[in-house]
Amino acid sequence: MQLRDSNLFRQQAYINGQWCDAVSGESTVITNPATNESIGTVPEMAAEETQLAITSAQVALSQWQAKTAKERQQVLLVWYQLIIENTNDLALIMTLEQGKPLTESAAEVGYAASFIQWFAEEAKRVYGETIPGHQGDKRIVVTKQPIGVTAAITPWNFPLAMITRKAAPALAAGCSMIVKPAPDTPYSALALAELADRAGIPAGIFNVVTGDAKAIGKVLCSSKTVRKLSFTGSTAVGVKLMAQCAPTMKKLSLELGGNAPFIVFNDADIDAAVEGALQAKFRNAGQTCVCANRIYVQSGVIDLFTEKFVAAVAQLKVGNGIDKSSDIGPLINSNAISKVESHIQDALALGGELLLGGSNHPVGGYYFEPTVIKGATKAMKVATEETFGPLAPIFEFESVEQVINMANDTDFGLAAYFYARDISLVYQVSEALEFGMVGVNTGLISTEVAPFGGVKSSGLGREGSRHGLDEYLEMKYVCLAV
Ligand code: ADP
Repeated sequence: MQLRDSNLFRQQAYINGQWCDAVSGESTVITNPATNESIGTVPEMAAEETQLAITSAQVALSQWQAKTAKERQQVLLVWYQLIIENTNDLALIMTLEQGKPLTESAAEVGYAASFIQWFAEEAKRVYGETIPGHQGDKRIVVTKQPIGVTAAITPWNFPLAMITRKAAPALAAGCSMIVKPAPDTPYSALALAELADRAGIPAGIFNVVTGDAKAIGKVLCSSKTVRKLSFTGSTAVGVKLMAQCAPTMKKLSLELGGNAPFIVFNDADIDAAVEGALQAKFRNAGQTCVCANRIYVQSGVIDLFTEKFVAAVAQLKVGNGIDKSSDIGPLINSNAISKVESHIQDALALGGELLLGGSNHPVGGYYFEPTVIKGATKAMKVATEETFGPLAPIFEFESVEQVINMANDTDFGLAAYFYARDISLVYQVSEALEFGMVGVNTGLISTEVAPFGGVKSSGLGREGSRHGLDEYLEMKYVCLAV
């Protein structure tokens, strides 16, 4: 690995400010999805090391909480600055373990860092309130206090940003955190720990434990010391973790699966809609929870949109993310390939028409061709399940009411997108869509300044924005009799 700073590539876990191996001495090999070659190993940790991390996070807490928000801000801004300065190395580590093209990785580094900057600043504005007393002698004061020791379990599709989106508000609020990164992408998390160490974040405040997801998750969920869990991943695992957290009544943030509709109305700017659809569908090879999963196009523009969309998708270059000309890297693993294949087979068996792609890319490995299918219907898997890959199914619709029903006909409610110009239609549709986030005339909606999160089976809580900080704070009300 050609890093400018080779110390960013860490093959040990980070607990209590120390780089550690597993108690068992076991480690796991991490491979590059682009080549299937080994990148290195990480410790295969389990319950004992997780407990150690929890204890160190608990011990470190009081001094961190005692600092002023401004003192914590100063440390966090050094962390932010170090991330920005090391963008190229962090992007390379990410591309090697995750597969996304280098430009996307570098963009994620900036996005990940933005949460640290945002929350470092925002923590200075954790205002309480005073409430007029309910009796003449009563004074009521409300304050917000850090929740304490927190934990994060994160996915592989955004190996840095899904960690900073949780760790930044936690640390800024005065909490400590134990992170269990995704097994496929531990090195981005460990590089982040290295930079946290250099920034002067005290030992025990930010810990990264690699290894057995179930064993680590069980200890984090059942611990009475851990007062909050933030998870990003599948709904199935989110449901399990929520159940495991119930006995200790933890505060939860759950960012789960999506099934985003992308709607193009007759009056839309079709070129803009094509560009938005490309971004919303094929970013990260279709492996984001806000990726467009179902493309609905009104009958008046379906031929025009489809023709332009297919032409644009045909231009996307599939290849190793290290190659600067690649637009789409490999999928994360063979399961991801199987899922895309099963959705395509199912759609074609139920009458869909293949317009582009449809199979493994000639490059081989985990590469898959960008695929477009028209004539999609609600009977198909693509209508109800998240594909999480480069498959764009096009559904036709006639009326506004019909497409709102189709779009909302899902258990999920994370992101939705639509393209239209009529202002009353824009209001009507944005209000009717049962999703936590709606992109109107844009295919990109993620930013640290806005509340990211879903409704229904897409989860609980919001990340980013001032609301993201509240997830790491408890409200306390003091009633004073004078
Ligand atoms: P994906 O399908 O995106 O990999 P998962 O929900 O399976 O999503 O994984 C997201 C994160 O949850 C990963 O860090 C994974 O290791 C972790 N995870 C998966 N199963 C469990 C579990 N039973 N307990 C704790 N963490 C888990």
